[in-house]
Amino acid sequence: MSHEIRTPVNSIVGFINLLKTTQLDEQKRTYFLEIIEKSSLRLLNTISNIIDISKIETKQVTILKREFDLVETIKECEILFKESALSKGISLRINYPNNHLIINTDKTKLESIIHNLLINAIKFTDSGEVLLELHKDPDKIYIIVKDTGIGIDEELIDKLFDRFYQVETGYTKKYEGTGLGLSIVKEYLNMLNGKISVKSKKGEGSTFIVEIPNIEITKNPKTEISRTNKNKKTNEFTQTKTILIAEDDESSYLYLFNLLAKEKIKIKRAVNGKEAVDICVKENIDLVLMDIKMPIKNGIEATQEIHKHKPHLPIIMQTAFAYPEDKEKALSAGCVEYVTKPIPAEFILEVLWKWLKK
Ligand code: ADP
Repeated sequence: MSHEIRTPVNSIVGFINLLKTTQLDEQKRTYFLEIIEKSSLRLLNTISNIIDISKIETKQVTILKREFDLVETIKECEILFKESALSKGISLRINYPNNHLIINTDKTKLESIIHNLLINAIKFTDSGEVLLELHKDPDKIYIIVKDTGIGIDEELIDKLFDRFYQVETGYTKKYEGTGLGLSIVKEYLNMLNGKISVKSKKGEGSTFIVEIPNIEITKNPKTEISRTNKNKKTNEFTQTKTILIAEDDESSYLYLFNLLAKEKIKIKRAVNGKEAVDICVKENIDLVLMDIKMPIKNGIEATQEIHKHKPHLPIIMQTAFAYPEDKEKALSAGCVEYVTKPIPAEFILEVLWKWLKK
């Protein structure tokens, strides 16, 4: 565990230092920045796994069901993981039914299950492809992640779902990881009344088959922002809009400021919830990006108060907590969307266009 935290931090700190102190050509600079980005994502994945397993251990996990389109989720997975597969020289293919598959279950947990399986499939495959498939029969929905990677000895398969178990150990270990991903997958599937099975042979790739009850709903889902449906934007349109960023953390604010400044949006800032309320009441604001954790008044209280004066002002909650309960709190306080830090640039812009246009 210590190794999985120290290694990426070592790269992040080391390469930032090199960027600061060395004259580098453009190619080297880009390469170093890519290493920093990859190491940060690796660190985030490790920390997320540690938080997830701690919550499972202390029985703090709750199931929060909602309706969503599983086909859309599969398409989003392709977008999220395509790059990391391509950068290893392998392809990521997806195969899904042509129509929608709307189900009512815990979306965040199901996404975490699929993400963990894809992360492994890509990590343990050095050539060939990873295939993500979605099938259904009248009773069951199947999500299958198949790879052409290193495979697993048949007699070790039962151990894979034990906490911290990894086939490779010690100083010869080639692949990164904490040994927690599959135990989280198994725990979440138990909570969703599902199960997982594995078919694998050393040297011949692996197939992980997730099974959940067929809980299909035959009506249209409540609309959700889709990462696969791009909202078109134009600078002429955004130039007339003003966004309030309510954010006490300086670097989080600077990230959003620089992202939005490129789009020529007017930006105001509040450093606490009270200031956010005052600005919204007194000035013409088109949209608020609200941090949930702020001094004096938190994001939830500020949202409720703003809506007393401006009931139709769209407020998007952003948080670094990523607890499903927070999402429900934010939505019931009147926020139109909820986004989790780190917020991918493309995603935040799409969410903004969607609500600024309304
Ligand atoms: P991690 O991947 O972080 O080590 P996991 O709990 O996700 O932890 O997986 C446990 C172990 O199972 C891995 O270390 C690896 O040895 C094995 N494993 C998981 N998925 C695959 C796969 N697709 N191909 C080969 N081995 C795998």
